Amino acid sequence: MTKTLPDKNMPIGTDAPKIGLVSLGCPKALVDSERIVTRLRAEGYELSPSYEGADAVVVNTCGFLNSAKEESLQAIGEALASNGRVIVTGCLGVEAERIRDHYPDVLAVTGPQAYEAVVEAVHEAVLRAHDPLLDLVPPQGIRFTPRHYAYLKISEGCNHSCSFCIIPHLRGPLRSRPFGDVMREAERLVAAGVQELLVISQDTSAYGLDLEYAEAAWGGRPVETRFADLAEALGSLGVWVRMHYVYPYPHVDQILPLMADGQILPYLDIPFQHASPRVLKAMRRPARREKTLERLARWRTQCSELAVRSTFIVGFPGETEDDFTELLSWLSEARLARVGCFKYEDVDGAPANALPDQVPEEVKDERYARLMAHQQAISAEVLGARVGEALEVIVDDVDAEGAIARSHWDAPDIDGNVFVDGDNGLRPGDRLSVKVTGASEYDLWASPLCPRTDAAV
Ligand code: SF4
Repeated sequence: MTKTLPDKNMPIGTDAPKIGLVSLGCPKALVDSERIVTRLRAEGYELSPSYEGADAVVVNTCGFLNSAKEESLQAIGEALASNGRVIVTGCLGVEAERIRDHYPDVLAVTGPQAYEAVVEAVHEAVLRAHDPLLDLVPPQGIRFTPRHYAYLKISEGCNHSCSFCIIPHLRGPLRSRPFGDVMREAERLVAAGVQELLVISQDTSAYGLDLEYAEAAWGGRPVETRFADLAEALGSLGVWVRMHYVYPYPHVDQILPLMADGQILPYLDIPFQHASPRVLKAMRRPARREKTLERLARWRTQCSELAVRSTFIVGFPGETEDDFTELLSWLSEARLARVGCFKYEDVDGAPANALPDQVPEEVKDERYARLMAHQQAISAEVLGARVGEALEVIVDDVDAEGAIARSHWDAPDIDGNVFVDGDNGLRPGDRLSVKVTGASEYDLWASPLCPRTDAAV
């Protein structure tokens, strides 16, 4: 077993925050330590050769033999006694309870190869100093969206295996970002003027599953790395929070009260893809027609303002006319606010390519046109019912006729607009109350109700 603090030849700065590192165990653990150190150095942290000179100490433990565990516990104790601010990682980290029983004051405990989580814990413990080179990139990162909204990616990959999709093959299984990492990015975006956070991933409601809903801390209280806790934390930032790519899992019910309370937007983007059980089975999608309709009905009793957006695929291999009409009748019952539709296409490498009964192109075209016309009539009714209502909108653009804005029901680029009349001195990012004066199947028209209620400067 080796025990090392950073080599004295490593660069040691003067003003930057300093981290000590104790590395115990085998070469694999040493490589883990090297990776942690590499990442910290790249972020502007310096390394301390002594406990006393460090702002915090990372102890990378070994848990292979009982004797190694004992030595690791001793090392944690030594670091706590000498420095007091200790983050534990490595193999013994899987026995977090044992560590906390011995040393309740450790700042964080993470397991082996949990590089992100260790670095995350360091961020929590010691703020990185300003570095003119590293900080050439603005804290909120470089974005392609307007200043007032931003996409917030909370995980990579996907654990599903939809037969028409190769994303799990390309991007691997679900890998959630640590809770604090996501929240810090969200805070940086809000501090930079963002008024609307668009939460995205391949499967947003599965957030944290791969991390076994690990405990984290946010806002001075314990949280779990899971969808509902993240939604609540994001909802505390005072900006619009919009959830995309949500699977209708039962636990999604938990965020409906946040929507009803106005903490996050009453909007769910759920790609249902179809409604016929036969087609859903061939697609390898889990949702069942009646259950989904029941869930939608229940959600609407929890939050009457809820808008559900979805996408559907027509012309999937094996889709019959009966399957398709079942989809249309499902749409009539579901009364979704926003719907997108795609004609099925083979994707190289997707299992669906090999399915029998491919649907001819002209049938796909015809079903696409029928679905769009069917949904347009539903959307026109749903939006028409809003005439006379007061809404909050956010301004995307301003032209000679007024402002082009969006309501809680409209995600940028994929949903409709609210056209606000008059020259009201509005600017992109302003949020204001309007009264709806007209509606089409996609868009609303409105007049300002009062001066701006909330402006992004
Ligand atoms: S369609 Fe979505 S949920 Fe299905 S495998 Fe692809 S990324 Fe995952």
